[in-house]
Amino acid sequence: MLQVKNLAVSFGLEKPLSGVTFDVRNGETLGIVGESGSGKSLTAMSVMGLLPLIGGRITSGSISFDEQDLTKLSDQDYRKLRGGRISLITQNPMTSLDPLKRIGGQIDVVGRLHMSLSKADARKRTIDILGRLRIPDPALICERYPHQMSGGMKQRIVIAMALAANPSVILADEPTTALDVTVQAQIIQILNGLVREQNLALVLITHDMSVVAQACDKVVVMYAGRVVEQGPVAAIFGHPQHPYTRALIDCIPRSLTEGARLRGIEGTVPSVLNYPSGCPFHPRCARAEAVCGSTIPPLVAAGQTAVACHFPVETTS
Ligand code: SF4
Ligand code: MG
Repeated sequence: MLQVKNLAVSFGLEKPLSGVTFDVRNGETLGIVGESGSGKSLTAMSVMGLLPLIGGRITSGSISFDEQDLTKLSDQDYRKLRGGRISLITQNPMTSLDPLKRIGGQIDVVGRLHMSLSKADARKRTIDILGRLRIPDPALICERYPHQMSGGMKQRIVIAMALAANPSVILADEPTTALDVTVQAQIIQILNGLVREQNLALVLITHDMSVVAQACDKVVVMYAGRVVEQGPVAAIFGHPQHPYTRALIDCIPRSLTEGARLRGIEGTVPSVLNYPSGCPFHPRCARAEAVCGSTIPPLVAAGQTAVACHFPVETTS
């Protein structure tokens, strides 16, 4: 299980994340949702131990995995963990694929490194994994180069590389954003299948509430670097209490004709250089009152869900 508690991150004087709390267990998919700039990717980078590379640091909180606090891990141990027990899949497959190397070799090397497999066994396993990802003719694909693949196929290859290390947690940061809708649905289905069949824990980062509805068991809604609401997907969609969560759900097109019109939330996501005082959502919130502009609402748990709002929308059942 991966458990993040009260995580805060700073870049010099900027504090783009605070109070980020969630957990995900084996066999479970957790969605982290919010508009771009809400701190989702930064959360993933924190878990992966990649903040120092971009000049950030964790100032408080803990990230526990396998009974270790990852925030206390040495660089060397983190390198072992990264791409091993915990894998990151990003939106752009070409950040993980080497354009000059054949597909098979790129996946084999992960198995050889993390599972200490022989060359022949690694290839057998690569072919097996590609098959599980419903890639036709895996042996042939192994001989191809990335540029010979479609976007959706490249993303499957990246997932195969992640799986080759035999991870127990996969963080997928907008893994389908660059793909068309049909391919998107296939990739989500594949990831969901892996969670069930291999008892993986999946953290699916997305800006799209309909992806959460399709694919996730639990959801964390982020806004301006904070968790504003979280809980089981059924509970959050059934009774969204935070005005921002409600707005995100309202953005889901209910029909194809409606989807043709662009829906969005009015106003813009605040910049990390200039987070509003009090509740960061107050400049865009129809329910805001004076206290919202001055006091940050704490994340308060009630049953399985938690919400950070001074005036949460009452649940009616
Ligand atoms: Fe809106 Fe106030 Fe709730 Fe923030 S705390 S979401 S401004 S009602
Ligand atoms: Mg992002």
